[in-house]
Amino acid sequence: MAENTAGGLLERLERGPVICAEGYLFELERRGYLQAGAFVPEIVLEHPHLVAQLHREFVHAGSDVVEAFTYYAHREKLRLIGKEQLLESMNRGALEIAKEVASETGTLFAGDICNTNVFVADDDSRTTVRGMFDEQVGWAVDAGVDFVIGETFSWGEEALIALEAIKEAGLPAVITLAIHQEPQTREGWTPEDACKRLEDAGADVVGLNCIRGPETMLPLLEKIRETVEGHMAALPVPYRTHEAEPSFQSLRDPGYADLPDGRPFPTALDPFTCNRYELGDFGRAAHELGINYLGICCGAGPHHIRSLAESLGRTPPASRYSADMSKHAFLGTDERVKREYKEYAEKL
Ligand SMILES: [Zn+2]
Repeated sequence: MAENTAGGLLERLERGPVICAEGYLFELERRGYLQAGAFVPEIVLEHPHLVAQLHREFVHAGSDVVEAFTYYAHREKLRLIGKEQLLESMNRGALEIAKEVASETGTLFAGDICNTNVFVADDDSRTTVRGMFDEQVGWAVDAGVDFVIGETFSWGEEALIALEAIKEAGLPAVITLAIHQEPQTREGWTPEDACKRLEDAGADVVGLNCIRGPETMLPLLEKIRETVEGHMAALPVPYRTHEAEPSFQSLRDPGYADLPDGRPFPTALDPFTCNRYELGDFGRAAHELGINYLGICCGAGPHHIRSLAESLGRTPPASRYSADMSKHAFLGTDERVKREYKEYAEKL
C-alpha cells in the first residue's frame, strides 16, 4: 500500500509530498514492448498486464499516483501511425488498467492528456486541440479518475486550453510545462509567467516536467516558486543535463559519436542517467523550496522513485530492499572478512 492514502489529491498535498512516477514510454520501450519514434502506447492493448505490472512496481517504489498510460494516445499520434480507430479503446483500456492498480493499492487514480503537436496558436488549431482534450478528458471522467494531469506543454496557451477542458469536467488539474533549451514557452513566456497564468486560470498544481534533468530544472523551479502561491509540481528526467546542454534532447555524447543525428536522445541516453542518490538530492532540494508534487519523468526506474520517496522521509515497500552495504562480503563491516580480505577489497 502507498503511505499517503487518505483523501483526494489536494488534501494529500496539504499534508505533505505526493509522489507521481512517470516515464512509462521510456521504461516500456527499454523493456522491448514499445517503439521509440512513434512512442504510442499500443502496449495498453497488446500487453495490458505489463502496463499494470509497471504501475505496481512504481507504487511499490513509492508512487502515490497511478497515472493512466494515455500519454500520446491522442488523435494526432494515432493518425500518424494510421491507427485512429484504436483511439477510444486505447484510452479506455489504459484508464481501466490504472484504475484497477490504484484501487488495489490505495493510490490516486489520474487521467492524462498532453501536448498534441498540432497546436500552432491559430483559431483552427485552438478548436482542434480543445476537441482532442475534450474527448480524452471525457473518457477519464467516465472511468472515475481522481484528477487529470495535463503535461509536457511547450505552448503556454495549449496548457491553458487543456486546463479549461479539465476544469469544465469538474476535476482537479495538475498542469506542467516542458521547457526546452531556451527558458521559455513557445510563445515566449517565462516559465514563472506561464505558471502564474495557469494558476490564475484555476490550475490546482502547476510546474514543470520532462525535458530537463535535476540540475537544469531546479533554477527554473526557484523562480516559479517565487511567483506562484499554490501547489507546485516538479518531475525532471533522470539525466545529467547541464548548463551548456540543458535539455535531454540537447545532450551530445562525445564517447559515442556514431548516433543518428548525433544526439543520444532518445535511445542512447544510458551514459547520462542520474544515479538514484542524485534523484534523492533533487527531491530534498525541491521539497525545501516548498514543492509537494514530485516525480520523475522519461527514463525513471523504480530505483529512482524509491530514492525520491526516501528523500522525503518515506519508507515504501521497496525500502525493505534498499542498499545495506554493511552486509556486503568484501566491502561490508564484518570484521573477520575485512581483516582477511583487506588487500583484495582494495583491488575490487
Ligand atoms: Zn518525459
